[in-house]
Amino acid sequence: ATPMSIMTATGRGAQAGVLIKNAEALERFETIDTLIVDKTGTLTEGKPRLVAVLPQPGHDEAEVLRLAASLELGSEHPLAEAIVRGADDRGIATEQADEFEAVTGKGVMGMVGGRPVALGNVALLADLGLDAVALGAKADERRDEGETVMFVVLDRKVAGLVAVADPVKETTPAALKALHKLGLRIIMATGDNERTARAVAARLGIDEIRAGVLPEDKARIIRELQEQGRKVAMAGDGVNDAPALAQADVGVAMGTGADVAIESAGITLVRGNLDGIVRARRLARATMGNIR
Ligand code: ADP
Ligand code: MG
Repeated sequence: ATPMSIMTATGRGAQAGVLIKNAEALERFETIDTLIVDKTGTLTEGKPRLVAVLPQPGHDEAEVLRLAASLELGSEHPLAEAIVRGADDRGIATEQADEFEAVTGKGVMGMVGGRPVALGNVALLADLGLDAVALGAKADERRDEGETVMFVVLDRKVAGLVAVADPVKETTPAALKALHKLGLRIIMATGDNERTARAVAARLGIDEIRAGVLPEDKARIIRELQEQGRKVAMAGDGVNDAPALAQADVGVAMGTGADVAIESAGITLVRGNLDGIVRARRLARATMGNIR
């Protein structure tokens, strides 16, 4: 492409809230055949809210939520915010946990009122030598609604579960449809449970999912696809997404996301929704098409 046509394209992109870092990002974007999207904050609003608290026999809702929220006071995860706000809305008092520890991609642990408490997914339970069998059916019901389920452990026993829902952005379904039409294969990568991921993917017509993914796995998944000859764009918003955004042929950051994600990306979507990717793809096609 000529410098002039690239300047025109990046200018038009900027007007539409699509910031293209350089000519290379635009040129590469035209060759992309696969788009990996992070779920939370990219497909969804990234503002989960608490929708259910289900205690095990011998425990009650208020107790389970108090324990969960007390632990989450120490975490900055969007899930933590949902749980703390949920407790607050219900007038449940929390207390800061001692010996707080965050386990990446799994959950949080600590001491609440002198007793060991943990909150997280099945992988966290497994680390503690526990399973979710007793709450399995209830957990699956919530996951089939696309909700994220976390288990509350007190004194090394499962005391209940909490479920949060993170609505899909209004703009997501139409954007994915348009990207499909433009010939992209769409893969959703998420740290969330497989069943939850499948429920969300089914609603959105996503081609493929990678669930239970740890942050460091995302870059590896991209590398593997590249080794198979795929040209991969990755869209994400989180601090954890930065290595994957850098590994991708083109990284696409949500302008509403973390600064480090934006720095690692070739394209930034100022409005933080996937409409911008459709726009970028069309611009890339028009610009590159011009000179062939
Ligand atoms: P993603 O950002 O892709 O949704 P994460 O890697 O941040 O995924 O988290 C994966 C899973 O680990 C979550 O779905 C949740 O079950 C568990 N988890 C992570 N952080 C927390 C937390 N602070 N509190 C409870 N659960 C957590
Ligand atoms: Mg995210």
